Amino acid sequence: MSLFDLTGRVAIVTGGNGGIGLGMAEGMAAAGATVVLAARNAGKGASAVKQITDAGGKAEFAEVDVANDDSCQALIDGAAKRHGRLDILVNNAGINIRKAPDVATPAEWRTVIETNLSSAFVCTHAAYPHMKKAGGGKIINIGSMMSIFGAPFAPAYAASKGGIVQFSRACATAWAKDNIQVNSVLPGWIDTDLTKGARREVQGLHERVLSRTPAGRWGIPADFAGIAVFLASEASDFVTGTAIPVDGGFSVQG
Ligand code: NDP
Repeated sequence: MSLFDLTGRVAIVTGGNGGIGLGMAEGMAAAGATVVLAARNAGKGASAVKQITDAGGKAEFAEVDVANDDSCQALIDGAAKRHGRLDILVNNAGINIRKAPDVATPAEWRTVIETNLSSAFVCTHAAYPHMKKAGGGKIINIGSMMSIFGAPFAPAYAASKGGIVQFSRACATAWAKDNIQVNSVLPGWIDTDLTKGARREVQGLHERVLSRTPAGRWGIPADFAGIAVFLASEASDFVTGTAIPVDGGFSVQG
């Protein structure tokens, strides 16, 4: 359907070499976009590219450390130059250091904030002129249930993900005039490398997620293909500044 067609569009997905980022990239590639999977691990990047190209999509890997401003700028400018345009940016790369606020160190706080939140600003700031030149664009920022709720083991992570939502709203209001829509996606509990660690470290988490999620299961990366295509396509041209949970009902369960 043309409303969701991404043919000819160029998308960068940070953290696109696995997990939720790859799920989103696969959706956009299936809708016709060329996807740039940006992360540190080139081996994982090569497998992710193969997965998409084997399915008939267009993808490439680009190395980036999102905690480094110059690396982010080079990623965005390099992709825009190679492909002649940049239409879609998904700020998805993220980490967590699971410690209570009384135990976490200032250095750990900064690492999480830099990786999850400052990187979104730096990449978005770098993408803006390219999107403006293309006559519009789509920015999708990945928040979390921790954008809404708190958890004793996630002070910096929750602060970064709350910040993602507010940052998205600020950009949405600034750039609606440029036809650039900026939205956040708030994943529930999704089975990825990130949460494999959490399941090991947080006792009883697996069972709590199953009993608290109305859908009765953990999410999977493929659950993010649809929301990525919607927020990256013309179908969402009047949708901006929102924060959309993709959580099997987790956030509305009383
Ligand atoms: P993964 O650990 O599978 O993915 C994280 C991605 O971020 C990896 O591709 C990793 O690639 C990349 N990344 C981490 N640090 C950097 C860095 N410094 N520079 C570049 N890339 C980096 O986890 P998820 O797929 O679960 O997480 C994706 C996003 O979704 C994160 O923002 C996370 O906070 C969020 N989220 C996840 C939830 C879940 O339940 N899984 C729930 C809510 C939110 P590499 O190591 O190769 O650099």
